[in-house]
Order: sequence, then C-alpha cells, then structure tokens
Amino acid sequence: MRYDIRNQLVTRDGQVTVEIDAPAPPGTDAEFAGNVTGRITLRNVGGEIAAWGRLQATVLMKCARCLEVHEVPLSFDFTESCAFEQIDEPLAYTQIADDEEPSTIPILDGEVVDLSELVRQLLVLHVPARSVCRADCPGLCSHCGARLASSSCECEQETIDPRLAPLRKLLQ
Ligand SMILES: [Zn+2]
Ligand SMILES: [Zn+2]
Repeated sequence: MRYDIRNQLVTRDGQVTVEIDAPAPPGTDAEFAGNVTGRITLRNVGGEIAAWGRLQATVLMKCARCLEVHEVPLSFDFTESCAFEQIDEPLAYTQIADDEEPSTIPILDGEVVDLSELVRQLLVLHVPARSVCRADCPGLCSHCGARLASSSCECEQETIDPRLAPLRKLLQ
C-alpha cells in the first residue's frame, strides 16, 4: 500500500486522496477473502497527518457455535492521526491496544508513504471478536460433535443426564 504522495503532504493543508485496492497487510491475525478496498484522504494539519475515509474488507471467521468458516463483510468509516515516521515493523505490531492512549500511526517506508500500518491497525480494530455463521446456527451436537445445521445425528432422542443439563445450556 505504497503511494508516491509525500510531496503533496509536506506543506500544511496539503491534502490527497488515494484509492485502496490491495491484499490485507500481514499482522492482522485474521484471514481475509479478496482485497481491502476503499478510499483514504490524508491531510497535513500541522505536526500530524490526519487520515480519514472508508474501508471495506471480507474477513474469514470461524463460527463460534459450529466452527464453520464463513465470510463476514466489514465496512467502516474512520478518522486517525498519522505521522511522517518510519514504520518499524516489530514496534508497530505491538503498539496497538484498545485502551492505550491514542498515538500517531507511522506512514513512511523510506521516502514513500505506506498506508499498510494504518490499514492493519484499522482492520485489527474492526474484526469482530466472535461471529456466528447465521443467527440461528444450532451449533454442534454436544454428544457426537456433528454440525446440527447440515447433518442429523442420532443423539437427538437421548435423554440428557440432568446433572449435565446446565453444561449443555452453556454449550448452546
Ligand atoms: Zn455456525
Ligand atoms: Zn449427535
């Protein structure tokens, strides 16, 4: 996600908008289907580079109930503060934390503007912690582990040991 736009941003109020259409950067701890797309506007606001725009991506998530991998579309607006600082991968990868003080995001790789760290942090923030393949996913049979949505297991008729009933409730 490298863009030769530094010259347009070095003076105060310099502004440029770029189209994003590239694979998700590494380090998101998630798998994506297809490219990250969208639009990011950068503006020199004096001392910092303000970045805002809209991104779309499709993340592959495991269903929290039946473990089936399914696509979850993401689409979000954002506003962030960036800075002309070098992306230092090992540092940047540990820098993000939900409850951390907001810090500026580095966007320089050599002399070239590289938006991958910005996009990576945004994706990390917006990938849901948990997802189900469909709202009424019945999950897995607690006896045989079959996916109840796509297979009929033989366990349905069994009576549940009352001592295990609360556990079964938890698993549903
Ligand atoms: Zn499911
Ligand atoms: Zn079963």
